[in-house]
Amino acid sequence: MSRTVTGRTRREWLRMMAAMGAGALVDGLLPRELARAANPPQDPVAAARARIGAIPIQAQPLGENLTLLAGPGGNVVVLHGSDGMVVVDTFVAPAWPKFQESLKGFAVPVKFVINTHWHFDHTDNNAPLRAGGATLVAHENTKLRMTEPHHLAVLELDFPPSPAAALPQRVFKDGYKLEANGDRLAVTHVPPAHTDTDVVVRFEKANVLHAGDVFFNGRYPYIDGSTGGRVDGMIAAADRLLSLADSDTKIVPGHGPLGTKADLAKFRDMLSTAADRVRKLKASGKSVEECAAAKPFADLDADWGKGTFNGDAFVKVVYLTL
Ligand SMILES: [Zn+2]
Repeated sequence: MSRTVTGRTRREWLRMMAAMGAGALVDGLLPRELARAANPPQDPVAAARARIGAIPIQAQPLGENLTLLAGPGGNVVVLHGSDGMVVVDTFVAPAWPKFQESLKGFAVPVKFVINTHWHFDHTDNNAPLRAGGATLVAHENTKLRMTEPHHLAVLELDFPPSPAAALPQRVFKDGYKLEANGDRLAVTHVPPAHTDTDVVVRFEKANVLHAGDVFFNGRYPYIDGSTGGRVDGMIAAADRLLSLADSDTKIVPGHGPLGTKADLAKFRDMLSTAADRVRKLKASGKSVEECAAAKPFADLDADWGKGTFNGDAFVKVVYLTL
């Protein structure tokens, strides 16, 4: 009996090839398919949580008693002091042990948690924070969206409803004000942009804005059409944030490094260019695949295409949210 290089018999090899279909080889997918056969795929959401959760947390001071914790699922901001902590966003679930450790370092209890929007990488640790005595604050649509199942296009992730223990207890429609530790926070809903649940958080004394996912610094953003996100809303939200900022404002994006007003202006211009180009292609009758094949972002990819989305994927994000 002849043997292949893998050590399998020819008969075993042929049986496996038939089971997988010849296309697997043509696509160069054979090694991955073999790996999957040996090690069945994880649920994609669990895999995303594990991948993001493995990122270490890095602390960066934003002011006297304001700290940015960056890492496993975007950017968390902590206002700390004798009134207790106010925490904006909560990382992914697998990061909880190290997140909890970071928070312990401030040596005061968490009083309030603000969710910038409903997505899992911003709300995943709501439940343990709420169980620890914190009041969860969010836009009313965040609570609503968290009670529904969702499919996120392009990312191809499916989410079941969140457990009741993770839901915000205090919701609002337009805005919410909070004073703590010598600073004033203005939490403001923006019309549908990244989702229909977005809020931006302004720390007035520290001159810091947490933009949530209406700002991805230096990378193409995700826009979630399944829960009301619109590319034109992203542009309008960026304009609104720009009007709140001055040249000294520190702007915390949902994802990416701490930014400035100039960084946000660049992001806004990229979105505007991207939307105009895809709008023209779509109006000419092109399908989403034909749009991506036209490579309308070829000149933008070097600056923006190194995050979660390359140019082809971002064409789809824009096309689906025009
Ligand atoms: Zn998001």
